[in-house]
Amino acid sequence: MSNRTFTMIKPDAFSNGNSGDILSMIERAGFRIVAMKKTWLSADKAGEFYAVHSARPFYGELVEFMSSGPIVAAILEKDNAVADFRKLIGATDPSKAEEGTIRKLYAESVGKNAVHGSDSDENAAIEGSFFFSGMEQW
Ligand code: ATP
Ligand code: MG
Repeated sequence: MSNRTFTMIKPDAFSNGNSGDILSMIERAGFRIVAMKKTWLSADKAGEFYAVHSARPFYGELVEFMSSGPIVAAILEKDNAVADFRKLIGATDPSKAEEGTIRKLYAESVGKNAVHGSDSDENAAIEGSFFFSGMEQW
């Protein structure tokens, strides 16, 4: 699975109408969409997804934001997917993100930062399975 990563277009980017532009950037960067859906996380589900951050001071804000509106969840495929996708999205804080990255273009703050990208092959597999099943052969 080292050629796969997982992404979400977060509620800010979805509600601002930036999903199409962001998906276009992702495809033009060479990622194949393996699975994709629009959904809306409950606070419980958002909390579960970001459970690794449950001790952090921003956890409540993060869970509230991620359950505040619809998102697009997707599994993406490309050589070196995890690292290349983190490069495409840019730094967590958009003011520190490189020019031309998705967060530089579409994120407004460290909290409302437009997209999620898995941080390891292991987490990519776990996060993909959180939203999709039976994708191994696609
Ligand atoms: P993501 O996991 O969403 O792709 P990331 O890997 O760049 O983002 P993490 O450290 O995993 O960053 O943090 C998860 C999310 O928590 C961030 O995307 C951001 O929305 C939120 N977050 C992180 N740090 C802060 C902070 N200092 N204040 C508010 N929200 C934060
Ligand atoms: Mg992260």
